[in-house]
Parts: sequence; structure tokens; C-alpha cells
Amino acid sequence: MELWQEMLRQSVDSAKDLVERFGFEKQAADKLNSLFHIRINPYYLSLIRHPGDPIWLQCIPDSKELLQDDLPEDPLAEDSHSPVPSIVHRYPDRVLFLTTSQCSMYCRFCTRKRKVGDSKKINMKYLQDGIDYIAAHPEVRDVILSGGDPLMLTDFLLERLLKGIREIPHVEIIRIGTKMPCVLPQRITLKLSKMLKKYHPIYINTHFNHPWECTPEAKRACGMLADAGIPLGNQTVLMKGVNDDSAIMLELMRKLLSMRVRPYYLYQADITKGTDHFRTPVSKGLEIMDKLRGTTSGLAIPYYVIDAPGGGGKIPMLPQYVVGRAGKNIILRNYKYEICIYPDLEEEPAYHNPPVEKPFLRKNGKRKDVIQEVKMIEE
Ligand SMILES: *Cc1c(COP(=O)(O)O)cnc(C)c1O
Ligand code: SF4
Repeated sequence: MELWQEMLRQSVDSAKDLVERFGFEKQAADKLNSLFHIRINPYYLSLIRHPGDPIWLQCIPDSKELLQDDLPEDPLAEDSHSPVPSIVHRYPDRVLFLTTSQCSMYCRFCTRKRKVGDSKKINMKYLQDGIDYIAAHPEVRDVILSGGDPLMLTDFLLERLLKGIREIPHVEIIRIGTKMPCVLPQRITLKLSKMLKKYHPIYINTHFNHPWECTPEAKRACGMLADAGIPLGNQTVLMKGVNDDSAIMLELMRKLLSMRVRPYYLYQADITKGTDHFRTPVSKGLEIMDKLRGTTSGLAIPYYVIDAPGGGGKIPMLPQYVVGRAGKNIILRNYKYEICIYPDLEEEPAYHNPPVEKPFLRKNGKRKDVIQEVKMIEE
């Protein structure tokens, strides 16, 4: 057994552990564990500095998870974009490939709580269907291995999967979405890196949410992957009490760059049952983006996105930089809130945001009036 597998076996992973080690009341612990599994491996557990800190909040259950019965379980409508159980196909040229239900730590804010940890819903037995689906769809040029955490597979199984995907001629790039460099960096070994290298071009997106996760172990893991020629990106979820602070976010983004990881996305928290206590107002995300721009390397600045409820895909959010227009001049403001005027060219066909003339929403296949829908949400 490899070290990381040994560590996994020593995880806090039951309601009983919650009662004995964290003083939970038995009934609440049982309920929380059945709503979404508990698993905290000893490495991630060791990052906690005090109860309620940003690491604790991400891995220790909270009874607030139980109070959100009215919220959707599948806010991004992934299941309705799922032609076979292991594939989510939302965009024209790329698919998510759900490889395993397992993770080395179950994040309490996970947006895929309805599936993750449940091997009935994500299972190896669906992998071949996924490969067949991709092979039958020549428009798919980018395959994103996700889950759960694909690096929960053994090197042997992962290699078999990569080989299967690489045999499909129209697949150009393979991406792996994994939290391992952050939550169990011991999973990243020289043997794994050497194996991955054979299947280039491979990209990895990892998932750090707080500067305390940027440890020497994590740095070593990322360095090893980067040395194998794998470009590393990072996806962060904006969360109340964890990282909803521009100084913390700045520190995180800088630390990531120094670990050779390029910030990619900052996600507005999805509206998912059992995770709503992490949600922040969008103005918080915009404020953070505003403060990053200009105060640090452009390389350290991710895209801030909202994954559209109902499955519309990721929508980038930017602070307002265009203050207005005067004739052909665009009036802008910079990161110091100084006004700048950019004289635009008249001759060029201007790019306009395509105006949405009669806004409508699609819901259960029907066109709905937006104003009506908003009224309904407000009520
Ligand atoms: C996020 C996501 C992708 C990848 O999006 P990129 O913007 O290309 O990183 C692909 N498919 C689904 C369903 C997604 O949610
Ligand atoms: S590692 Fe990803 S898939 Fe697994 S619990 Fe965390 S957020 Fe969910």
C-alpha cells in the first residue's frame, strides 16, 4: 500500500468520530454523515489551527447543513446535460467525465453533494460508456476528468483510463480536476508524474481556497507536476468565513503563483442544498476582484464566474470599468478610480454586447418572461 492510501485509512470518517473527537451530539452527527459523508484525512486535519477556522469550516460538518431543505440538489442541472451517467456535456467542444465518487476529503461546500461519495451514482462501471460517448462525438476535443477526485483511482486504473481517452483521435487535450495537491499532497508521487507525462497534453486544475493550504508539502506536489510539464491552474470557491476577504485572497493568489500554479477561476458559491451558509453577496466577489487588479501581478488574477443556475454555464463577472461613453470616446476608470478617456475608432465595426431585446428564460423547455420569473423569486 502506498503512503497516501495508508493515510486515507486513518481518516476521520464516521459519525462516531465526530462524537468522540469533536463533541458532536450523536443524532446530529448521524444526520450530517448521511446527508453527505464525512472524510478528513490526517494531513488536512493537521492544517486546522483552531475550532471554526477556515480549514475547519471546509471539512467539519455544521448543523446549518440540515436546515436547507428548500434548496436544489443539482443547481447547475448537470443531470439533465448528462447523456450517459459518467458524462456532463454542456458546452459544444468539451465534456466533464465523472470518474469516481470518492475524494480524499469531503468538502462541506461541495456543489455535487448529491453524487459525490455515492458509488451508486458515480461508478467505475460507467467509465467505458463515457469513453464510448466521447469516441462517438467528434466535436469533443477537451475531456475534463472530474468526480469525486480522479486521483483517488490507483495509478494503474488512471493510466488505463488515460490510454482509453488518448486512443480517440479527436481528443486534443485532457484536463484533470483534482484537489489532491491541496488536501493530500502525498498522492502526488514521482511515479504518478512519470505516468501522466506519457499522455500529454495534460492540464491539471487544482483547488486551493485558503493560504494556510499552501504548505511545503503542497508546494512540493505542485512542483513535481509542473516538472512533468503539466500546466497547473487553480479554482477557488468564494466562501463566507473562509476567504471572503481581499487581503486573504491576495495572499492566496500570490502563494499559488509561487507554487507554480496559475489562478484560473474564482467561483461564486452555487445555490446548493446543504451549502448555503457559505454563500456571500456577489458584491463581495466584485470587491475582491477590484482590489486584486493593479495591486498584484496580472498572472495572479483569476476569472470571477457565476455558474448559471439551471445550467447556462459559467458567466464572467467584472467590476464596472466602463463609466460611460461620450461620442466616440469611452470613459473608463482604472484600479485607482482615476478617470481615463480612450478615443475609440469610429470606422471599425464596433463590438457590442449583443443586446438581449426581449429577455426570456428557458425553464423546463418553455420560454418564460424574465420579469415574471424575478417577481416569483422575490416572493
Ligand atoms: C466548468 C465546466 C467545463 C469547463 O469549462 P472551462 O471554462 O472550459 O474551464 C466543462 N463542462 C462543464 C459541465 C463545466 O461545468
Ligand atoms: S474534492 Fe471536489 S468533488 Fe470532492 S468533495 Fe471536495 S469539492 Fe466535492
